[in-house]
Amino acid sequence: MAVNLQGLRNSSTSSESSAPALRVYLETYGCQMNIADSQLLGAILGKAGFSRAEQAEDADIVLLNTCAIRDHAEERVLQRVRELAALRRRAPHLKIGLLGCMAQHARAELLYKAPLLDLVAGPDTYRRLPELLGRAAFDPTVDVRLDREETYADISPDYESGVRAYVTAMRGCDKFCAFCVVPYVRGRERSVAPADLLREIRALSERGTKEVVLLGQTVNAYHYDDMDFGGLLKMVARVDGIKRIRFTSPHPSDMSDSVIDAMAAEPKLQPHLHLPVQSGSDRVLAAMGRGYDSAAYLRLVDRLRAAVPGLALSTDLMVGFHGEQESDFRATLDLVRTVGFDSAFMFKYSLRENTRAFKLGDTVGEEEKTRRLRELIDLQEQISLARNRATVGSVFDVLIEGSARRGEHRLCGKTPQFKTAIFDAAPGLRAGDTVALRIESATAHTLLGRAALGWLGSNSARTANARPEP
Ligand code: SAM
Ligand code: SF4
Repeated sequence: MAVNLQGLRNSSTSSESSAPALRVYLETYGCQMNIADSQLLGAILGKAGFSRAEQAEDADIVLLNTCAIRDHAEERVLQRVRELAALRRRAPHLKIGLLGCMAQHARAELLYKAPLLDLVAGPDTYRRLPELLGRAAFDPTVDVRLDREETYADISPDYESGVRAYVTAMRGCDKFCAFCVVPYVRGRERSVAPADLLREIRALSERGTKEVVLLGQTVNAYHYDDMDFGGLLKMVARVDGIKRIRFTSPHPSDMSDSVIDAMAAEPKLQPHLHLPVQSGSDRVLAAMGRGYDSAAYLRLVDRLRAAVPGLALSTDLMVGFHGEQESDFRATLDLVRTVGFDSAFMFKYSLRENTRAFKLGDTVGEEEKTRRLRELIDLQEQISLARNRATVGSVFDVLIEGSARRGEHRLCGKTPQFKTAIFDAAPGLRAGDTVALRIESATAHTLLGRAALGWLGSNSARTANARPEP
C-alpha cells in the first residue's frame, strides 16, 4: 500500500520527492523484549524510507516503545510525553507516537491523559507502522489489534553491533499469572518457526555475533510443530560461529527434561538461568497462579544444579502481593537463603488494571512494601557478594564485550555464569575474543580479574565453570 507521508513533513520542507527522509527518534522502555521490538521497528521504518534521529530535538517523529508491567513504568512514559509536548510547542510539525505494552494497556486513558498523541499502536501492529504513521499525519490514530499469528518472523531486526544478540523465539504468554498484564498486552503465546530462527542466527553469526540470547516471556514454552524448546536449543547449538547460547525468561513450570538435558549436553549452552520464582510462600504462589509451590521450585533447582555443574541462578521476586502476610514474606526470605541466588530483580507489587488480581485490591501499604523490599534487597546483596567472593582465585572464560564503562584502559565481558567481569586491557585482547580470567576481587555486582595471558580462553564453547589455574 502506498503511504502518504506528506502530512508528516515540516511545512517548510519542499516537495516530497526531493525531501530528505523523515527522521524518527525511537525511545525504548522496559524489558529485553521491548529492546528487541525496537530493533524490529528500526528495520520496518528503515525499509519504509525513514531515517533515524539521534535525539528527539532532531526528529520529525518521536516514538516511545513502552512498558506496562508496573505503574511506575507508565508514569515515566507519561512524564516523557509531557516533555515532548513542550518540544512540540517549539516544533509544531513534530508527531508523537506511543507504541508497545502501555499503548495496548492504557489505550482508553491515554485519550485523556495524553491527548496530544498522534499515534497509539500496540505490539502486534508494527508491520503496519508506516501506514499508521501516514494516517497519523492527518488524524490521531489508534491501532491496538492483537494478532494470534504475528511473529514478525520474516523481518530481520536492526540488531545492534556487538558480541551478543537477542533473538525473539516466541511472543505473548498463556500463563495469566494473577498480577501480570503481559498476556493482555502482548497476546497469546506463539513461536517463531525453527527455520526462520536458524536463518536469523546464521546471519548473525556471519556478521560476527558470538552469543545469542533466545527471548520469550515464557521462552521454554516454545513449541512449533514437533519442535520443543530443548530441540530448538540443540538445533541452535549447531550453528557455526555462535559460541554461547542463553535464553530468558524460562518459566519454572515449563522447565522440562528436554530443556534440562539440552543444558547438560550442549557445551554452548551457558551455565546460567534466570528462573523467576516471585515468592517463597505457597499461599501466595497459589494466589498468583504460578503453577508450582516452593518445594517444587527447590526440587527443580536441585535437578538443574545436578545437571549443570557451576550453574548460576538469578530470579525475579515480588513483595506485597495481595494478601501477603509477614509470614509469607519470611517464607520468601527463607527461600532466597535456601537457593542462594547469584542475583535477583526485586519489585514491589503494583496493582494492574485488567489483571485477575486487580479486583482484589492492594492489602499491603506502600510503606510496608518498601520495608519488605529493602529487607529483601539487603539479604540478596549479602548473598550476591558472598557468591561472587567465592569465585576469587578461580579462572573463568570471559567473552570480551568492549571497554568497561569506567576506566579507559579496562575491558569488560561476561563469565559463562553471566557475571560481569572487568580487567585491564592488553595488546591482542579485543571484543569477541574469549579470555581466561583469574578473579582477584569481587563486589556484589562485578568480578575484577586479571587476564591469564598465555593461557588464552578456548574461544570455543563453554569451558563451563571455575577451574583451577594450571
Ligand atoms: N515471564 C516471566 C515469568 O513469569 O517468569 C516474567 C516476565 S515479567 C515481564 C518480569 C517480572 O516483572 C516478573 O517476573 C515479575 O516479578 C515482575 N512483575 C510482573 N507484574 C508485576 C506487577 N504487577 N507488579 C510488580 N512486579 C511485576
Ligand atoms: Fe506475566 Fe506470568 Fe506470563 Fe510471566 S508467566 S509474562 S509473569 S503472566
